[in-house]
Amino acid sequence: MTIKPLKGSCHCGQVKFEVLTQPRDARRCDCSLCRRKGAVMFTASADEFELVAGEDNLKLYQWNSMAARHYFCKTCGIYTHNWRRSAPEFGYNSGCLENFDLSTLVNVPTGLGSKLSVVESSKHK
Ligand SMILES: [Zn+2]
Repeated sequence: MTIKPLKGSCHCGQVKFEVLTQPRDARRCDCSLCRRKGAVMFTASADEFELVAGEDNLKLYQWNSMAARHYFCKTCGIYTHNWRRSAPEFGYNSGCLENFDLSTLVNVPTGLGSKLSVVESSKHK
C-alpha cells in the first residue's frame, strides 16, 4: 500500500515539502524560541520528510547548543520545519499542511525544551 503524501508549504508558496507518514506526535515546546512561534509540530523521520521546492528560499536559524536546525521561508517568514540531529528526526509545522483540520489538535502536550538548554534562562528571555 502506498501512502499518499501530505503536502505542506509556507505562506507565499515558495517552500514546499511532502511527508510520507500520517501526522504523529503533535507537540508544542516551551523553549524560548518555540514559545514565540507558537507552532504545533509533527514528527517525521529522515525517510519520511522531503523538501520538494524552495531550498534556496529557506533561512536557517540556530541558537544555544546549535543542535537543532530551524528553517523558515525568507520571503514570508513562515516556520516550516526543523531538523533535530540528536533524535534524529524532522519536525514540521502542522499549520503548513494542506487540508489538515487544525481543530483535530486537542490536548497537545508541551515539551520541556527549555530544560534542555543550559543558557536558556540567562540569554534568551
Ligand atoms: Zn514563503
